[in-house]
Amino acid sequence: MLQYRPWGFRKRALEHSSMWFLCAFMVLFCTQLTGCSNSSPTAPGDNAPVSVVGTFLTPFSTIERMEPMEYSYSSGADCPWGFMHQGLDFYPSGSQAPFQAVASGAVLNVELRLYQGEWLVEVSVDVGAGTETEYFFETFSADQALGQAQLDAVSVRTGDTVSAGERIGTLLVGGDGSHVHFGINLSGEAPCPDRYFTDDALAAVRSLLEPGLQLCY
Ligand SMILES: [Zn+2]
Repeated sequence: MLQYRPWGFRKRALEHSSMWFLCAFMVLFCTQLTGCSNSSPTAPGDNAPVSVVGTFLTPFSTIERMEPMEYSYSSGADCPWGFMHQGLDFYPSGSQAPFQAVASGAVLNVELRLYQGEWLVEVSVDVGAGTETEYFFETFSADQALGQAQLDAVSVRTGDTVSAGERIGTLLVGGDGSHVHFGINLSGEAPCPDRYFTDDALAAVRSLLEPGLQLCY
């Protein structure tokens, strides 16, 4: 403000010296007491828990009930279909299909909700080491009764513990395009699931890819 202009330089000079003192103090404090000046940022995924990598079963129980994947995982738009899709979609070939826990864990959430006008049931399971698995039972239908039926067809509830291979729920095929979206939440990141599967599970998942598609983009 105008009335403080005569003091501006001196005030700024004072602020500068105060800031330098504060900076010097903080650097000293960090170095001497906490050692935090030695820490360096790590790239996402650097701290991926090794305990669950390479252990997941397939999310579907029976591959004979599955149709080919129309698109797979992408972390951005640089993929054949041109948009981000941080998960894998599994389409049943019949009117319903069973899905299973890929790993043992604690059920964090089971929730029926509307997504872009269509009902889906979201299931998340904490499988340990900071890793959550997510299953979205997407009805592709605006029919709330079907949404409720889908919730009833989910076998687990919040607070349950599940074992690897145990039934998570049965997908009820409602609208055209009904599928289960499977994804991983690693501390807010959504990595490609490929390296989380066992070799057999990965081969089974890959066998569902449309010709020419990769599993991850
Ligand atoms: Zn999806």
